[in-house]
Amino acid sequence: LVSRKWRVRPTVLDLGDGVRIGEGTLTLAAGPCSIESEGQMESIMQHLVDNDVRIMRGGVYKPRSSPYSFRGLGMEGLKLFHQMARTRGIKIITEVMQVSQVEEMHDYVDVFQVGARNTQNFNLLDALGGVDKPVMIKRGISGTLEELLSSAEYVFSGGNEKLILCERGIRTFETASRNTLDLNAVPILKEKTHLPVIVDPSHGIGLREHVAPMALAGIMAGADGIIYEAHETPEKAASDGAQTLNFDESARLIRNLRRVYALR
Ligand code: PEP
Ligand code: MN
Repeated sequence: LVSRKWRVRPTVLDLGDGVRIGEGTLTLAAGPCSIESEGQMESIMQHLVDNDVRIMRGGVYKPRSSPYSFRGLGMEGLKLFHQMARTRGIKIITEVMQVSQVEEMHDYVDVFQVGARNTQNFNLLDALGGVDKPVMIKRGISGTLEELLSSAEYVFSGGNEKLILCERGIRTFETASRNTLDLNAVPILKEKTHLPVIVDPSHGIGLREHVAPMALAGIMAGADGIIYEAHETPEKAASDGAQTLNFDESARLIRNLRRVYALR
């Protein structure tokens, strides 16, 4: 069902209020790794509004490698995130980690994110097949493209056709970067599937100083958009500060992404 053989026409998702994801539109989503506080959201939302970015990312349930790291503000954080985003015309993408969260989060999100650690959580994918909201599935940490497409097939065959795929880097033998952003995935996925393909250069390389060139490369490779981490003070971020852009870096990247997209 997710194959181009089955549907030739590219899938375009309409999030409402003029926000679209898919062919013909450059999708930009930015925000902190974790939702931390009202003040933090206030500053990032102002940055997004100033730069005409309509989608904000930010986790309230965080899959952390260590149980002692900050694990997110949960539903309380999401409700505030939702309320603040609504009044500013911003759409929300945030990670859902388990089946029980699908229902409680449903009314407060615009796009459900399935994280790299949950790409093959088939119960979660089944549950998301039953909702009427878009789902962005990240590629598994050691996942093949075929596995990513099979995960999408779970959601699609369950009845939810509103899907986005995200290349976020894979684990390889290379240790110079956090992950290896596999830009090969972009043209291959675009050939195989009608679904929108988004690149996450923040998790893909893990190094703030190299996020922008990899984002631009992702667009030139044919991606429909970029999702990246931004924060007013990345060095103080509760998670992933080392791969998070400050507002100056983010504003410059947004300008350059629009230029590069126009060249395609
Ligand atoms: C994130 O988006 O902050 C995140 C945890 O991503 P991933 O699942 O790709 O590691
Ligand atoms: Mn992160």
